[in-house]
Amino acid sequence: MHEREAVSEPREPAAAAGDGLPGGGVASHLAALLVDAGLLTPEQLRHGQRVQSKVSSTRTLLSILTELRYVDMPAIRRTLRTNRPALPLGAVLVELGYLTEPQLKLALALQQERPGTPLGEILSEHNFVQSGDVFGVLADLRGLIAVEPEQAALDIELLRQAPMRQYRSHTFLPLRRDLEGVLIAFADPLNRAHVETARHLFGSDVQVGVASRKSLAIALDRAEKLLAAPASGGAGDESPIVAAVHDIINSALEQQASDIHFEPLRDRMRIRFRQDGAMTAHREVPPDMAQAMVSRIKVMAGADIAERRRHQDGRILFETRRGTVDIRVSIYVSIHGEKVVLRLLNNRGALLGIRDIGMSQRMLEYLENDVLDAPSGVVIITGPTGSGKTTTLYASVNHLNDADTSIITAEDPVEYVIDGISQCSINPKINLSYEETLKHIMRQDPDVIVIGEIRDQFSAEVAINAALTGHKVLTTFHTEDSIGGLVRLMNMNIEAFLISSTVISVIAQRLLRRVCGHCAEDHVLTPHELRRLGYAAADAAGLTFRRGTGCPHCRHTGYRGRVAVFELLVLNERVRDAVIARKTSFEIRRISTETSGLVTLLEDGIAKAADGDTTFEEIIRELPRLSAPRPLAELRRLLGVKE
Ligand SMILES: [Zn+2]
Repeated sequence: MHEREAVSEPREPAAAAGDGLPGGGVASHLAALLVDAGLLTPEQLRHGQRVQSKVSSTRTLLSILTELRYVDMPAIRRTLRTNRPALPLGAVLVELGYLTEPQLKLALALQQERPGTPLGEILSEHNFVQSGDVFGVLADLRGLIAVEPEQAALDIELLRQAPMRQYRSHTFLPLRRDLEGVLIAFADPLNRAHVETARHLFGSDVQVGVASRKSLAIALDRAEKLLAAPASGGAGDESPIVAAVHDIINSALEQQASDIHFEPLRDRMRIRFRQDGAMTAHREVPPDMAQAMVSRIKVMAGADIAERRRHQDGRILFETRRGTVDIRVSIYVSIHGEKVVLRLLNNRGALLGIRDIGMSQRMLEYLENDVLDAPSGVVIITGPTGSGKTTTLYASVNHLNDADTSIITAEDPVEYVIDGISQCSINPKINLSYEETLKHIMRQDPDVIVIGEIRDQFSAEVAINAALTGHKVLTTFHTEDSIGGLVRLMNMNIEAFLISSTVISVIAQRLLRRVCGHCAEDHVLTPHELRRLGYAAADAAGLTFRRGTGCPHCRHTGYRGRVAVFELLVLNERVRDAVIARKTSFEIRRISTETSGLVTLLEDGIAKAADGDTTFEEIIRELPRLSAPRPLAELRRLLGVKE
């Protein structure tokens, strides 16, 4: 198969693919090909066009035809492959629904800053489209072969036919030789000089493969190592897998991800990172490679490789140039195979002081003076997983940590090591259970006890009893909001008067994504949006938040980093009475708001959004809206925030 002689790359319709002609041109060109191939009838095409003219959104014709089930993606891709229409890659990706028009515009703008960089490269590098899809469609359009050199087995004899520097300077790599010639992976297959060099070295019948620059770079490194290594047999088959797993963990660390998910799907494994609380795509791998990667992780984590039907866990101490990273591994058996999640424990940022966790001025004063400095009692930090509870817990512990205080912890697991306190990591494998640890903790003569989490009646009782005997107890809980924490304790068969006399404070919190400072613009809330927040539209008219439009600084998400919002309930007499009287959560909430200065999560979120820290969408997505918020001016006064 010969590379068609070349190809001046069809130009992307400049700035706007949106207004009618260019995008429409691509659509009708593709639709005509489908009709010619007998995959779509002219009636179906007309129906699709009618539907498109009626929908208000910017749906592409092909996506409508696919949704109507007149055609499917494999058929479209086959048609591209047979006909190789001279259409620009970006516009085709938009038409096929892999990419949106705003993303394409952005990518073209980015390309202008880096002339000569292929568009496919920019799309894959910025994660606009999975690189497999970008290069798959590009290969279809240009009659090339999509390859993933990163995952290919390398042929050392073939590699030796040319010097490494040739591969590097022309960014290509020979993968294998078969009857049709040598298959070569190119990062820029449309660059005629690169293809000519390869033909010169490997013969005129080279098959041109297209790969992402990243995948090729990894393969080039591997090839270099392979060529440098002394010839020997052995672990040759395994090493690409070892390298791939290593590379994924390193990328996650570099990108400051907190978790890596290896998710088996029906026909492939998807690998995603959790960054700033949100999942982001990293890459996908085929099933055979997925199995090998899972086995490799099991070996690293000390789990049982032969066991594939039970959930398992383990731990990896991963060596990097900057030190050892502690990784917790959870292996969960799903219907498509084992799902593996790696939690990167020391990759969660530094230990913060309580002044740095993002509490408003007034709340911080309450936390320092009325909560943490109280002589004894229980302080509960509550919120779902990933709400930043642990950060607040450690910041509080750090605040209490001084030479004349004895602090002891029972945690599952220890996530930050703090100098000067005694931390215990629960380990059920050796029967060091939570229960066992809590029984012993009281005998250690502590002033402050940190119980990682209240997870059952037993741990709740330990916390309450410790407080009754004059200790300060810090712990966490999984509830929606602060009042929910109290109610949950009341429902755990613990006497209401014990709760009311020991619990000092319940802090509920969430992490919302922070608006990217580089691309933020004003967002004046509409009457409908105000109503969704719980405001009467007239009362809050003109309320203005910020939102990011997307730029390279924020990976085009409009968000960068996170901001914590809090609800700090300090129990006063009125609230304690309400607990003893076993009032409903609605009543306790009302009394707390009216008498204790409680500012709700929703209200703190609104105040922070009004300061430009987070968006309307984040508030709606993350915060409970249990009661109507008070006007912004009042919230700012309650929070001690200046206008
Ligand atoms: Zn941005």
